[in-house]
Amino acid sequence: MADIIKLLPDHVANQIAAGEVVQRPASVVKELLENAIDAGATSIKLIVKDAGKTLIQIIDNGKGMSETDARMSFERHATSKITSAADLFNLNTKGFRGEALASIAAVAHVDLKTRVQDQEVGTHIEIEGSRIITQEPCATLTGTSLAVKNLFFNIPARRNFLKSNNVELRHIIDEFHRVALAHPQIQFAMFHNEGEVFQLPSGNLKQRIVGIFGGKTKEKLVPVTEETDIVTIQGFVVKPEFSKKTRGDQFFFVNDRFIKNPYLNHAVSAAFEGLLPDRARASYFLYLTVDPSTIDINIHPTKTEIKFDDEHSLYAILRSTIKHSLGQFNIAPVLDFDRDANLDTPYSYKDKYAHTPKVEVDRNFNPFENVPPPKKGASMPTYTKPPVEGWEHMYEGLKTVPSEGGSNVTYESEEVTGDLFQKEAGYAFAKAESSTYQLNNKYIISTIKSGMVIIDQHRAHQRILYEELLRNITVKESVSQQLLFPLVLNYTSSELGLLVQLKEGLENTGFVFGKVANETLEITGIPTSLSESEVPIVMEQLLSDLENEVPDTGFSQTDTLAKSMAKSMAVKAGETLDGVSREHLVNSLFACKEPSVSPDNRTTFITMNAEELDRKFK
Ligand code: ADP
Ligand code: MG
Repeated sequence: MADIIKLLPDHVANQIAAGEVVQRPASVVKELLENAIDAGATSIKLIVKDAGKTLIQIIDNGKGMSETDARMSFERHATSKITSAADLFNLNTKGFRGEALASIAAVAHVDLKTRVQDQEVGTHIEIEGSRIITQEPCATLTGTSLAVKNLFFNIPARRNFLKSNNVELRHIIDEFHRVALAHPQIQFAMFHNEGEVFQLPSGNLKQRIVGIFGGKTKEKLVPVTEETDIVTIQGFVVKPEFSKKTRGDQFFFVNDRFIKNPYLNHAVSAAFEGLLPDRARASYFLYLTVDPSTIDINIHPTKTEIKFDDEHSLYAILRSTIKHSLGQFNIAPVLDFDRDANLDTPYSYKDKYAHTPKVEVDRNFNPFENVPPPKKGASMPTYTKPPVEGWEHMYEGLKTVPSEGGSNVTYESEEVTGDLFQKEAGYAFAKAESSTYQLNNKYIISTIKSGMVIIDQHRAHQRILYEELLRNITVKESVSQQLLFPLVLNYTSSELGLLVQLKEGLENTGFVFGKVANETLEITGIPTSLSESEVPIVMEQLLSDLENEVPDTGFSQTDTLAKSMAKSMAVKAGETLDGVSREHLVNSLFACKEPSVSPDNRTTFITMNAEELDRKFK
């Protein structure tokens, strides 16, 4: 048989390698920003068009490249950063694989202009899919400008696989944040489709964090510093009372490189233990400096994961350092997170009249006396020691007692046929004032004709609100309450961007917006079903549910909005509901189009019929 093995041509090998390095526009941004930093730039500008699908350009004032280096930089495994394997254990640069430019050039149109300080002219190179189109001298500033156009032009499958511009831009901004936070002394600017997204002057770490996350961040930060033999820790944690319910801004940098490390993240969470509300996550900006020989950066192709020689000690040091900082800066929980939810009024029942429960005491009661059974028609049952004989008479009075307040034992009587309630839903209720009970402040139990129904209050309320919101958003008939003073909320510009895209939907639920200016959102009206203090929570949940993505189509946008708002507005497990609220919830649930599942498809109620009960009592 003839030999069949051949070496792949370079451009094919590069394209294959590109699959690993270049997954999306954000990967290009990361590689190019890192190259600019490795080149010693003090000022870096990122220009993006169409979320990087059309153009990603980085202009730096770093050391530039000679004519030959400019050409060489696009070869695979061409790097100026390491010369031997030993260098791998003492890395001081971001890059070292010499793969990025070769990979990028394999899947895009690249335009490079670069000049080193002591040369009068620079070099201009154009490459399309690994093929050099031009290389000529040119006039350009010291430093490098590298433009990447039409990413994946030669791999349509990849190009089609890219997400919407919002998502891709979000990824780019994330990478930009990471690099900009790692190097506060370098000046950065970012533009998208001609608009300025960030303008970050050179400064200290705190100024950089504030530059990115907005002026309000300043008062939220607690400094962290520690120096030990194995690690130096610097940075900030965000005060617990500003922790985000569902997302945190969590940044770890090791030797100025952004990393993800669940184990160290756990160390931080452990330091915050007891200070954070349920589900909330600590936010932090932590900078660890360690001896480069004690870490291994090489285990992940995109290099956000690294291995430490002594993770256990790092964990312990990090945890105690942060605990100490929180203690030193007197960070006690300002909000009472352990508050007893039973004492809260569920928001939708706030304005309801509270009935004073009637308690009747039998002053003549003597437990040692042998009392005769109560008379028929007594106004309220009172406790009496069950007489050994004639005990069945004890409950007679109950039949005539209306079940107000929910604390009485009522049972289904034959005469009432239950057609007062939502027969179409198939759950006929036994009685008009059917008795409902709350179990563990979580489940509502009610009788139905065939037996009983157990409802998960949180999920059920989500379903009710979800359908109501969907209706409001589509029919546009919601009512809003005007706020006396506009509510001004602070967001980062990217968060604002997401909210603005949902403006119309939000307005249809009853929100009225005022000015949307840099990093602030003014709200002048809110849905009647919300209280002012709940608005930030609703927005926070919404931002977290969007997960960097505003759905493109109208319907899924409406759906996301309704689901998210329903989630944050619904009564929670742990909230006590009074009788009226319970009845209301039960009735509204069975008036829903799809009462049996929550908006995220989880069971809202289960039923148990008489036969099942009978079986259990066998
Ligand atoms: P790596 O960064 O791993 O060395 P790259 O493919 O990213 O590999 O870059 C190859 C080489 O090109 C770098 O080692 C560096 O010498 C040079 N280079 C790339 N970008 C720049 C830049 N912005 N300024 C100066 N030199 C650069
Ligand atoms: Mg590089």
